[in-house]
Amino acid sequence: MAAAEAQYDLLVIGGGSGGLACSKRAASHGKKVAVCDFVKPSPPGTTWGLGGTCVNVGCIPKKLMHQAALLGEGMTDAESFGWEVAAPKHNWETMVGNVQGHIKSLNFGYRSDLMSNGVKYYNAYATFLDPHTVEAVDKKGKVTKITASEIVICTGGRPRYPDIPGAKELGITSDDVFALKSPPGRTLVVGASYVALECAGFIKGVGYDTTVMMRSIPLRGFDQQMAGLCKTYMQEHGVAFIEGAVPTAVEATPSGAKKVSWKLADGSVGSGEYDTVLFAIGRDVCTSAIGIDKAGVKLSSNGKVPTVNEQTNVPHIYAIGDIIDGEALNPPSATTELTPVAIQAGKLLADRLYAGKSALMDYSMVATTVYTPLEYGAVGLPEEEAIKLHGEDNIEVYHSYFKPLEWTLPHRGDNVCYAKLICLKPEGERVIGLHVCGPNAGEMTQGFAVAIKAGATKAHFDDTVGIHPTVAEEFTLLATTKRSGDSAEKSGC
Ligand code: FAD
Ligand code: NDP
Repeated sequence: MAAAEAQYDLLVIGGGSGGLACSKRAASHGKKVAVCDFVKPSPPGTTWGLGGTCVNVGCIPKKLMHQAALLGEGMTDAESFGWEVAAPKHNWETMVGNVQGHIKSLNFGYRSDLMSNGVKYYNAYATFLDPHTVEAVDKKGKVTKITASEIVICTGGRPRYPDIPGAKELGITSDDVFALKSPPGRTLVVGASYVALECAGFIKGVGYDTTVMMRSIPLRGFDQQMAGLCKTYMQEHGVAFIEGAVPTAVEATPSGAKKVSWKLADGSVGSGEYDTVLFAIGRDVCTSAIGIDKAGVKLSSNGKVPTVNEQTNVPHIYAIGDIIDGEALNPPSATTELTPVAIQAGKLLADRLYAGKSALMDYSMVATTVYTPLEYGAVGLPEEEAIKLHGEDNIEVYHSYFKPLEWTLPHRGDNVCYAKLICLKPEGERVIGLHVCGPNAGEMTQGFAVAIKAGATKAHFDDTVGIHPTVAEEFTLLATTKRSGDSAEKSGC
């Protein structure tokens, strides 16, 4: 469609992390831009405002509830620092009320941001009619046809439910937990990846009996030594794990609880009663109900969109954020489903399309953190992946357990926190993986990610004078290699 015939230079479908960033950047380059965003209610009926997953049902409420859990730990520690804290009690309703209040203020901010950037906002669900036209339907059923020269799809994903009796009727997902009006009580979290462990961590952290049902391994795709440390920490802090199990049915009991039946890998069965059953078994991308065939955009078998520099097989249609197929990237990336990735890709795409820039999105060496509530930060390759790619002889792993100074007075565990650097020997011990479990791992990892992206070697870490006493200084002191077999355990300052 010639630019003169289309209503908009750019239409963005999805007003989440990627869509908002891309639309505002395109408008800042003088383009006429529209965004369609619409939230279909979750099966229990939860819905939310503009901003997508991160703001409403992801990073933001999750991190705030992680903070609630950390404050609980902090209050337990406080007595050994001289504070006389009367038995602290957590109020779920207050936490949810305040978190939701903050989210509403963010929703409002995003709406006014679009307005002040001159981006037209349609609170409507978009489906393609042809490669340049969508039909947008709002909650009252009003239909608007929108045409655009270029279209960016960033419709994100929604939690998956297992295909078992009672799951949708009686279970909830991460789309609901942050807005739960009453406390979750005894909670079963099904799944053992990011979403599952983070939700289980904060629910237990604010005082509710929590069980994780794990089908195989914790945190698939992450360094398994680190994943094991997170799991052990959770277990030592009272989270129960049912290992090697999958749920087979959920039934309501006469007392109003939920009876979950499950099957173990050896064929045996079990069951238990819970007040809340939270499914966190992965997410499906929202590409199946947007008329994508009418646009001619090809999908991978998992519903994701294969892209080259965010461009789909239809030259004027682009995709960013959670919906892109990380496996189809060159090289493949396992860290495509993160807010900052969607934002960066969206801004760079708008700059290339409308400001004559050429910088491409780099999906490699993206740092991430899992909040369990012990934080696990990672950038680069897991150890097992590094060995698979480069061969064991070419990898040197430097590691150390450590105990944060602030854990000493409350006598919190020895050898719980752990740091490791994975170095590529043939490239002068360039650091290709950094992993850390400990307080503020997210903050640490973000800083180190800059150095690693810039090609830092082990010698650069050794040459850097640490800040004492911090946890991050551990990375400037690593001297023990795994190959040596020497103990990585530590005591003292
Ligand atoms: P989204 O933010 O999901 O936005 C897509 C939007 O499009 C939604 O509003 C959707 O309703 C709308 N939409 C869908 N179809 C249509 C349509 N046809 N018409 C109109 N609108 C439509 N990432 C981090 O970096 N850090 C974290 O700590 C973190 N924590 C998370 C915790 C949880 C529980 C979850 C679930 C995710 C978390 N993530 C985190 C991941 C992060 O939220 C996502 O990677 C990010 O939001 C993806 O952005 P997006 O723009 O691709 O999609
Ligand atoms: P994942 O797909 O990463 O994990 C799904 C989990 O559910 C796995 O443990 C899987 O087990 C299990 N599972 C799958 N099917 C079943 C089943 N039928 N029965 C029982 N268990 C099952 O999904 P997540 O939703 O956790 O995360 C999605 C993405 O969201 C992440 O990749 C991440 O990018 C993003 N995110 C980022 C966060 C952050 O930055 N802190 C936080 C949360 C999410 P198995 O291993 O056996 O397959």
